[in-house]
Amino acid sequence: PLVLGIETSCDETGVGIVRGTTLLADAVASSVDEHARFGGVVPEVASRAHLEAMVPTVQRALDQAGLKASDLDGIAVTAGPGLAGALLVGVSAAKAYAYALGKPLYGVNHLASHICVDQLEHGRLPEPTMALLVSGGHSSLLLTEDITSDVRPLGATIDDAAGEAFDKVARVLGLGFPGGPVVDRMAREGDPEAIRFPRGLTGPRDAEYDFSFSGLKTAVARWVEQKRRAGEQVPVADVAASFQEAVTDVLTRKAVKACRANGVDHLMIGGGVAANSRLRAMAEERCERAGIRLRVPRPGLCTDNGAMVAALGAEMVWRGRPASAIDLSADSSLPVTDVSVPDTSLP
Ligand code: ATP
Ligand code: MG
Ligand code: FE
Repeated sequence: PLVLGIETSCDETGVGIVRGTTLLADAVASSVDEHARFGGVVPEVASRAHLEAMVPTVQRALDQAGLKASDLDGIAVTAGPGLAGALLVGVSAAKAYAYALGKPLYGVNHLASHICVDQLEHGRLPEPTMALLVSGGHSSLLLTEDITSDVRPLGATIDDAAGEAFDKVARVLGLGFPGGPVVDRMAREGDPEAIRFPRGLTGPRDAEYDFSFSGLKTAVARWVEQKRRAGEQVPVADVAASFQEAVTDVLTRKAVKACRANGVDHLMIGGGVAANSRLRAMAEERCERAGIRLRVPRPGLCTDNGAMVAALGAEMVWRGRPASAIDLSADSSLPVTDVSVPDTSLP
């Protein structure tokens, strides 16, 4: 099936087109530069930017794929979770295109899309697959039995998401926003063992598959503050590398453990933080040792994009899942277990 996907849950206006598991177009317009001076995404600014970028980005994707809108078999859109106003722009546009073209509409879950995108690179996901979803708003272990209908959370962060921790540590170090890519880059020059930062929720009595990054973030801030107060130079690269090591150590340790305990031999890592070079390398090492097959999409597909939405939409069509009603609404707190928003008016 030929499906166009629209993503507007945060600050990326993404439009992708796929045929089954083949990527045909991936157009992304980001408003990240407009948010940088505020140190984080400003919802109102994001909504307006989506509104301006929507139609040109759809056109760009169609041009890339060399297709007309009438060629499509369906329109998929992120129905949630995300920023309410931002989601609304994408959902409204998708409804308009679906209605005007007479094509089925698929409202899908942003988090499941972060998992499904891997199909564009490595083919259909094995069932079951363990998914480690690490992004700006989420850090979860998801036992994925069927990417269109059965995604079971085993654990999640109890405070900050991994990406949020990267962004906050970057701010403490004065590295700007978003923090992930720049911490990743700085860390390459640093010693990951220079400072032993805490590994949250790894004690014997802690929840096995939950995460906590707020204590780590505070520990980094306190360490840096002490250096500054003592008038010493802050070894930015060492702090970045040591912080990154603590995050990736916990993430990969728990992911491997979850695979083993559930007899799952495929691990996929998705979401913006999956672009992190140290996370990718450490996961590869540890999975290899544990006999687990690792799947991580290329960095450009880990961060928000429309292709991931199209990928999940195509899988919905492929499996004959019900489409959404044309009065589909966005749900800013759509639970991860709701992979799609089916038409509830149907019998
Ligand atoms: P969610 O998917 O939970 O709704 P989101 O869509 O805002 O949140 P993504 O776009 O999936 O999040 O990911 C953005 C996050 O990924 C940011 O916090 C960013 O700092 C982080 N990130 C991006 N690249 C890297 C990297 N190389 N290393 C670490 N973190 C990264
Ligand atoms: Mg973003
Ligand atoms: Fe995301």
